[in-house]
Amino acid sequence: MFANGLSYLAIPGPSVMPERVLRAMHRAAPNIYTGELHDVTRSLIPDLKSVAGTAHNVAIYIGNGHGVWEAALSNVIGAGDTVLVLATGRFCVGWGEMAEGLGATVETIDFGDSDAVDLAQVEAALRADTQGRIKAVLTVLVDTSTGVLNDIKGVRAAMDAAGHDALLMCDCIASLGCDEYRMDDWGVDITVAASQKGLMTPPGIGFVWFNDTADAVRGTISQVSRYWDWRPRVDADEYWKFFDGTAPTHHIYGLREALDMIAEEGLEAVWARHAGLARAIWAAIDVWSSAGPMEINVADEAARSRAVTSLKLDEGQSDALRAWCEEKMGVTLGIGLGRTPASAYFRLGHMGHVNGHMVLGFLGTIDAGLKALDIPHGRGALEAASAVLADLSRG
Ligand SMILES: *Cc1c(COP(=O)(O)O)cnc(C)c1O
Repeated sequence: MFANGLSYLAIPGPSVMPERVLRAMHRAAPNIYTGELHDVTRSLIPDLKSVAGTAHNVAIYIGNGHGVWEAALSNVIGAGDTVLVLATGRFCVGWGEMAEGLGATVETIDFGDSDAVDLAQVEAALRADTQGRIKAVLTVLVDTSTGVLNDIKGVRAAMDAAGHDALLMCDCIASLGCDEYRMDDWGVDITVAASQKGLMTPPGIGFVWFNDTADAVRGTISQVSRYWDWRPRVDADEYWKFFDGTAPTHHIYGLREALDMIAEEGLEAVWARHAGLARAIWAAIDVWSSAGPMEINVADEAARSRAVTSLKLDEGQSDALRAWCEEKMGVTLGIGLGRTPASAYFRLGHMGHVNGHMVLGFLGTIDAGLKALDIPHGRGALEAASAVLADLSRG
């Protein structure tokens, strides 16, 4: 009824694409063998490194997040190796399954669906590994199924305290360019991310950043599948075959524009914008939850992502709310991915090209949906969210 007009996608990836990115991609197919495309591709490398906080290496792949999960693992993990998965939701578990597919043994510490990684348990597990079987620790900065944010710097400190030399691998697919991340400062050896979330570019390309420690491990692997091998991809002399074939031409132009936008705003300002918008969202949720069934999935604010929020209602209500928001108002909310019952959960993506009025728009839509569907809720959520934004904008 009120859906005609600009529709809005509030799911945790793909995220809203900026007009600037769309315009940058709207062009004829370029020459892939020489010329401008090579210059633009080369120009991405320093900016990709800076957005991940590393001075080391980055390899670009045509593939989604699942692709770079496998790419990263293929360079350092082989049959018979053991990895330790720090599970805070569906996504790190999925990465572990990818390692299993490569023949690795997967040990998992499950921290549940609402809590961050407990560093003391990580340290204890690594201390117990007296034979040094664990070759890599797999973590997520943000688990997109639960909205949990992990303390990656703390994970490295726990590994150091245990005197363990496993590689630290971190999935930042949901959160790069949203939540603070500093690969080198935090002691991460391998980072993976993809184009379609905080990086505001369509799905289709992914990235693996790796340091020299990780590359030394790569050197000990006798067979790495050709497509995933990161070594030829970072060899500048062979730049024209960076992708082992046709370059992802339009993604390269789109990503160039998106990285320019991040650079113009400043990475720390981008993080601060996400943090402020998340506070407004949380304030609205606090009010809704004060009466009725709504619950935010992660109680501890320090363990909440600033890019994605997972919410619970009674069984069936989240599905009904999502359907109402989409059909009546043109706003699409995220499904209760990986949760049971899935119909009780929904997620909000607030990553990338998101500002105050967009957040107030989807919060207002949810508020109307709760009323239309007679789902009990505390009154005044929009008032609370707008007060947060008003306060923060004074600073
Ligand atoms: C989206 C996401 C993935 C999967 O990425 P795809 O591009 O959908 O394959 C993996 N991990 C995290 C944390 C994600 O948010």
